[in-house]
Amino acid sequence: LWQNVPLAPPDSIFKLTAAYKADTYAKKVNLGVGAYRDDDNKPWVLPVVKKAEQIILNTPALDHEYLPITGLPEFTTAAANLILGSDSRAISETRVTSVQTISGTGANHLGALFLSRFYPWSGNKEIYLSDPTWANHQAIFKNVGITPVNYPYYDPKTIGLDFDGFLSSLKSAPAGSVFLLHACAHNPTGVDPTREQWSTIADAILEKGHYAFFDCAYQGFASGDLDNDAWAIRFFVDKGVNMLVCQSFAKNAGLYGERVGALHIISTSKEAAERVRSQLSVLQRSEISNPPTYGARIVTLILNDPALFDEWKRDIQTMAGRIINMRKQLFKLLTEELHTPGNWDHIVNQIGMFSFTGITPEQSKILTEKYHIYLTANGRISMCGLNSSTIGYFAESLDKVVRG
Ligand code: PMP
Repeated sequence: LWQNVPLAPPDSIFKLTAAYKADTYAKKVNLGVGAYRDDDNKPWVLPVVKKAEQIILNTPALDHEYLPITGLPEFTTAAANLILGSDSRAISETRVTSVQTISGTGANHLGALFLSRFYPWSGNKEIYLSDPTWANHQAIFKNVGITPVNYPYYDPKTIGLDFDGFLSSLKSAPAGSVFLLHACAHNPTGVDPTREQWSTIADAILEKGHYAFFDCAYQGFASGDLDNDAWAIRFFVDKGVNMLVCQSFAKNAGLYGERVGALHIISTSKEAAERVRSQLSVLQRSEISNPPTYGARIVTLILNDPALFDEWKRDIQTMAGRIINMRKQLFKLLTEELHTPGNWDHIVNQIGMFSFTGITPEQSKILTEKYHIYLTANGRISMCGLNSSTIGYFAESLDKVVRG
């Protein structure tokens, strides 16, 4: 049996981590990591999470019963308020269907599955994905029979947004197309549209009756401000764009392995939202039956207790602040100390955990093979891999590689 099963290649990010771990060089650096690290290169359990865990431990009445199919109601309500804003009209008009999911990946999957079954496709089932995008997007949509199509996003010449290309794709796509949008801190480029550009994008989407599939994996983690990072989503809801939102608490609460997330589908009426809920329940039941409790309980405590919520905001600022500081330091090292050839403005202009350095795959390879610095071939670095001990070595190595 299984003689004809082809051997699949390993996941590139996990492969990178394995190569880094096997490397015995003392100064090795892992810039592939997709999780926050503190200045000692250690995973960080947020102090507010520790407090919430203590509360859970001290609540003997909590049991291990199943959650409802759509998740912990206190969690989904608070999660919707967090991302859509507690003053959201869509929420007060009860037009939002929120379902707890297996983190952001699960939200993407459930959203994709729902669209695959129920979206009024006029032709082929296709989703427009930014070029490039989080690699898993391709697989998630293909798994449910939706074909990924690229829209221009990143311009290697400017190491910034190809706004004209993006806009012309919105305008030329068949009416009613589905576009996946990164709400903030675009992965892998770190390049986000400005508010003015978002407004133009929303107009183009409304004009063509497109559907916006928002993926938000970094609320708060990008700018340090939860409301600021949800701006595009709230703006689109206000404008009346047909849309859904995938939400993850992996990064902003440091709950990677606990798989806490939600899918929010915004409908035009309360009745439609109820129908959507009924179908999401059917889909969720057959896939995971019901979502896990532990992480959802932690997030619910944090979101619903004003003191814990304030503390969480401070923890988020600690993480986002360290990343922003690394960007500033790297920029300073390259431009003021090493005078590395080229323009490095993008290092400080890009947002979030990841940065597209603009170096070639060959240069990335040299960084790994000669300098033991691990990064993806597309030149993406995780700012979280940089800290006071690694940043100097990375800047010097990058400088040497760029000079050739
Ligand atoms: N979307 C994007 C764009 C991401 O970068 C990530 C995390 N790498 C996710 C979704 C989902 O992550 P998780 O399933 O851990 O919440």
